[in-house]
Amino acid sequence: MLFRRKTKTGDNVEEVDKLKQLLNAKSEMVSIGAHQVRTSLSAIKWIIKMFLDGDLGKLTAEQENLLRKAYDGNDKAINLVSEILLVNKSEEVVEKKYVFEKVNIVEMIENTIFDFSGESIWRGIEIIFLKPQAVLPETKVDKEKILVVLQNLIENAIKYSKYHGKIFVSLKVEKENIEISVKDAGIGISEDSKTKIFEKFYRTENAQKKEAMGSGIGLYTTKDIVEKHGGKIWFESKENEGTTFFVSLPISR
Ligand code: ADP
Repeated sequence: MLFRRKTKTGDNVEEVDKLKQLLNAKSEMVSIGAHQVRTSLSAIKWIIKMFLDGDLGKLTAEQENLLRKAYDGNDKAINLVSEILLVNKSEEVVEKKYVFEKVNIVEMIENTIFDFSGESIWRGIEIIFLKPQAVLPETKVDKEKILVVLQNLIENAIKYSKYHGKIFVSLKVEKENIEISVKDAGIGISEDSKTKIFEKFYRTENAQKKEAMGSGIGLYTTKDIVEKHGGKIWFESKENEGTTFFVSLPISR
């Protein structure tokens, strides 16, 4: 007779494993499909842009008007697919096993800022990295997941900044921890929203007005990752003035 292991809730372990495999396969399919859709939409975007920029000859006012509408609609679709990819990736990241290794945090921050330079320049935003003076003690983290933390915080600072704002990213040693902070002079977070900011799918009203696209899953995932490192995340914010997010990660593990 086949011996069936039971979980705490009484489900068969084999069935739970099978379900996990199915969910992983589904998540992979969503990811592959969404990437293909985004690639096609991006190709369309550049073709329309060439027309709008006049690279293929002068347009009549009516042609330009229609193409602009097509461009905007296409852009919305690209953002939507990007959000689907992000939610999918966040779920994958939360589920994945943690592997801790020695990393160069300074380099990780520099690379992340570089990856967002196109987006920040486009929005007229300058990102300034205040590097630590002293050599940092070696820190072991899960590289892939801490990268998600850096990406979420820097991307949010850009998204919720005002045009021509400045963002300061800093890194320092605080007692037994390394502390990363990302400071923007953007829309800020109202007092009423402060307690809900790390809830899954929560978005403030002012954020929804400024950026229609957003999932409210980034900070939820970020907090989960930081806490699985034994660290802490918190923020200081004033509506209409700006926000600073802090992440503290233990040096020794
Ligand atoms: P989203 O995809 O909406 O950006 P997040 O989970 O990353 O989702 O953030 C949740 C919400 O927290 C945002 O929708 C926004 O309301 C608020 N928020 C996050 N970062 C900032 C910031 N730097 N300035 C102002 N509000 C922020």
